[in-house]
Amino acid sequence: MEKPNPFEVALRQLDECARILKLDPSVHAMLRLPMREFHVSLPVRMDNGEMRVFQGFRVQYNDARGPTKGGIRFHPDETIDTVRALAAWMTWKCAVMEIPLGGAKGGVICNPKELSTGELERLSRIYIDRIWRYIGPEADVPAPDVYTTPQIMAWMMDEYSKRCGSNQFGVITGKPLAVGGSAGRDEATGRGGLYVIRRAANDLRLDLRRATVAVQGFGNAGFALANLIRGSHGSRVVAISDSKGGIYNEYGLEPWAVAEHKAATGSVVEFPNSRPVSNEDLLELNVDILVVAALENVITEDNAPRIRAKIVAELANGPTTPEADAVLYRNGMVVLPDILCNAGGVTVSYFEMVQNAYMYYWDESAVQQRLDKKMTEAYLSVLDAARKYSVNMRQAAYAVAVERVVEAMKTRGWV
Ligand code: NAD
Repeated sequence: MEKPNPFEVALRQLDECARILKLDPSVHAMLRLPMREFHVSLPVRMDNGEMRVFQGFRVQYNDARGPTKGGIRFHPDETIDTVRALAAWMTWKCAVMEIPLGGAKGGVICNPKELSTGELERLSRIYIDRIWRYIGPEADVPAPDVYTTPQIMAWMMDEYSKRCGSNQFGVITGKPLAVGGSAGRDEATGRGGLYVIRRAANDLRLDLRRATVAVQGFGNAGFALANLIRGSHGSRVVAISDSKGGIYNEYGLEPWAVAEHKAATGSVVEFPNSRPVSNEDLLELNVDILVVAALENVITEDNAPRIRAKIVAELANGPTTPEADAVLYRNGMVVLPDILCNAGGVTVSYFEMVQNAYMYYWDESAVQQRLDKKMTEAYLSVLDAARKYSVNMRQAAYAVAVERVVEAMKTRGWV
């Protein structure tokens, strides 16, 4: 079945929220369109001497609450509509978290796995060359996303700093610690997700020490969550997958050992003492917590009726289609929506911006404490909205976010 267009999904979610909040039609119309977008061509000299032209995007969706913020994705299937959707979700995510930022996203159509380090560096630098006038600590601050890394962030920060003629650490987050990164940023998305799961489990009286977990997507976000939930709560992580396939062991997998195997072989598959499981079957396993941490549209109306987890934790952006959402809600599952569940990343990115501006750096425990407070407050405000409007957690998160963005727009006299 053809996957839905992510921007159409994002707009349907917004439309539903507009109905719940009885939003003024002109305000609704403003929120349906990105404020500004850039389409750039990126010529790169390849190692064999040939010139290859890549295509890139940056979408700045809404800056009513502050400078826009959002990652840059390097992916062969990148499309402008994916970037638009991700930029809209960033707008709502920052608002749910009550951090003073708007939403943006960037992307380049490329397969980083096929590029040498030198080619990747040249691509990263030319991308900044094309958009540097329109980004900056007070305008728009990029970060890592799928297949972009702290090293790529360092090259991009360096390129921007050269254009400006001075060090500009605050232009980008997710940087290595040596150049203004924040303690705790590498695991922030997973850790933030864990704080929200912990709250939801508590509300469901689910004991995390006995809980079983399946994790689809074993990159930055998926690995951190798997490792933390295993390490700090003793939960049993029975299945893990990546783009090449999945592994299963009913007695539990040690995420750090799986990560070592992936580092050595390029994938989680064929991890010792495990049996293979496909990415599709992993979603339908009989586990307490299903963590989706790869890409969009993996839970659809097709497979939603067969999903059995009590909690679906969306570390990925846009993993569930609106039709699937309705099925999961009807079946009594608690879906922790992306704009809440994976917001730990942007929250610690925001902390990184604050530290860059102050030139004073916090230790890891200070970052964790502040993240816990932010995630908990956001979870509680979403829960309150779910009760107030009698809606599911995604609709509630949207209601909280859109109300805050609209309040800023009204206060500024935009609407
Ligand atoms: P990553 O590049 O570090 O890892 C992506 C993982 O997904 C890899 O293990 C890859 O093998 C796997 N994958 C790719 N295609 C897959 C497929 N078809 N089926 C199963 N697995 C597949 O990326 P990441 O930063 O961990 O991001 C993952 C998701 O989390 C994305 O949706 C991203 O937007 C979202 N997210 C990430 C952050 C962050 O701080 N890294 C923050 C918020 C949201």
